[in-house]
Amino acid sequence: IEQTFSIIKPDAVARNLIGTINARLEAAGFQIVAMKLIQMSRSDAENFYGEHQGKPFFGPLVEYMTSGPIVVQVLQAENAVLKYREILGATNPENAAAGTIRHDLAESMSRNSAHGSDSLSSAAREIGCFFEQSEIF
Ligand code: ATP
Repeated sequence: IEQTFSIIKPDAVARNLIGTINARLEAAGFQIVAMKLIQMSRSDAENFYGEHQGKPFFGPLVEYMTSGPIVVQVLQAENAVLKYREILGATNPENAAAGTIRHDLAESMSRNSAHGSDSLSSAAREIGCFFEQSEIF
């Protein structure tokens, strides 16, 4: 059984979509094994998105991700990493398949409602950014 890391981003929290997204996750067979509502600090966001440092969208991305509360969560399922990327859809909602979270709910490329780890190793790193082992059930 695999775990992946998920963020319900500020645009989705602001539009009261926490329940909608969690319902989709549970219906897809994910167990939510850790979850909290937080606001990232600038250094949290710079560290979390470290691989994008230097790219033109890095500053706006950090600004946006720290702009309001987010939900961070650990999701458990068979093949959780790939399975979540599939139901999340492409980064740009205009390219996301019908029925995916981003196609149905996202506002734009930057305000794209949710994040899911892109590999097992990034899942482990990202979970460690926000959760102690004792907070994961
Ligand atoms: P996430 O990591 O949030 O699941 P992703 O893996 O689909 O998204 P990444 O390439 O890791 O995409 O980019 C991280 C986030 O940075 C994206 O979700 C998006 O919000 C933002 N982003 C990426 N590329 C761009 C871009 N060209 N313009 C604006 N924002 C971007």
